[in-house]
Amino acid sequence: MVVSRDSEVVLGTIICDRCGKFIDTADTNRVIIYYSRCEDDKCSSPEEE
Ligand SMILES: [Zn+2]
Repeated sequence: MVVSRDSEVVLGTIICDRCGKFIDTADTNRVIIYYSRCEDDKCSSPEEE
């Protein structure tokens, strides 16, 4: 993944809402954190709380 320091694009950050692991970034027009699920078995399992 290439990150350009010259870009004005602000990246949203996607992190796992279960373990807090960094997952990905997304092009957004402001700084924001999205919560998703990482690929870890204990996080991606569909079980409810
Ligand atoms: Zn996780």
